[in-house]
Amino acid sequence: MKPIRVGVLGFGGLGQAAAQLLAPKTEMRWVAVADKQGFAYNPEGLDPQACRQIYQKQGSVGYLDSVGIISNDSIRELLRKADVDGYFLALPNLPNTFMASVAQQFINSGWQGVLVDALKRTSAVEQLLAMREDLQEANITYMTGCGATPGLLTAAAAVAAQSFAEVHSVKITFGVGIANWDAYRATIREDIAHIPGFTVDQAKAMSDAEVAAFLDKTNGILQLENMEHADDIMLELAGICDRAQVTVGGIVDTRNAQKPLSTNVQLTGRTFEGKISTHTFTLGDETSMAANVCGPAFGYLKAGMAFHQRGINGLWTAAEVMPQFVR
Ligand code: NAD
Repeated sequence: MKPIRVGVLGFGGLGQAAAQLLAPKTEMRWVAVADKQGFAYNPEGLDPQACRQIYQKQGSVGYLDSVGIISNDSIRELLRKADVDGYFLALPNLPNTFMASVAQQFINSGWQGVLVDALKRTSAVEQLLAMREDLQEANITYMTGCGATPGLLTAAAAVAAQSFAEVHSVKITFGVGIANWDAYRATIREDIAHIPGFTVDQAKAMSDAEVAAFLDKTNGILQLENMEHADDIMLELAGICDRAQVTVGGIVDTRNAQKPLSTNVQLTGRTFEGKISTHTFTLGDETSMAANVCGPAFGYLKAGMAFHQRGINGLWTAAEVMPQFVR
């Protein structure tokens, strides 16, 4: 079987982890990448180490010898040039309409294949839902909300629900530990946007120095409660519970790679015999955010490919499809 040719859009924290994760895989080959200032394409495969070095030294994969190109319209140009079966969109969703605009760009380009995102906000997933028919007509199989939360934990809730006749609540609590906030700039800005008193636009407008100053005040900790997280709409769409029954919160430590708490999802419901009980699925503390986002993202990309090859297109969420294990 020929490997699935994969592209990664965005080469920050998650994009770099994605490239590293794909390196030993035989079922997928990483051939294309874009960041804000450039892109690179090599049908034989890209070298994660070389890409990372050049990105860290010069700020863009576009500076890579022979395969890199500098561009301020990198996604469009890469799309035109590259033969890719599926893309992981490891892009910031700043502003909150950015991912939907990228999806529109794919539709307009005439490209056909599988797209996977790790979008977080309910309102961002709603924008994609509105594009459902356009994606279908464009022969694009789009898997949305396929990171950790939403993503892995939402899917776990969908599985856990099967023991119950009625689901009462789904509670997702995440702990994230990263050694330096600036390894995941978009993730941290988007998290700050959930803190009372902040909006997405305000968080987007913050300079790196302003983010660092804000984190100094909180000792590097972000405490997040009742977040607008698409796990709610995804579980509602899957027919599991009402979106109001889903809550998401957590703690992010931006100065310590160790998790401040164990990430888990608790689903409470009533069985057919009338018993009330809770299923809990807890992630191993040693697993990083990158492992729990990028692993599922490619698992859903593989599942999306199987759909696409059978002519099944349109929009899917992590709560309605099983990810497939990538070897
Ligand atoms: P980052 O800030 O580290 O990197 C972003 C990358 O995107 C950079 O390489 C940048 O150059 C590139 N980029 C920005 N604008 C671009 C454009 N117009 N064209 C091409 N490239 C562009 O980001 P990150 O911290 O890795 O986060 C990526 C996304 O993943 C965020 O939206 C974050 O919220 C999401 N995320 C989701 C989950 C989940 O569980 N669902 C968890 C963590 C992060």
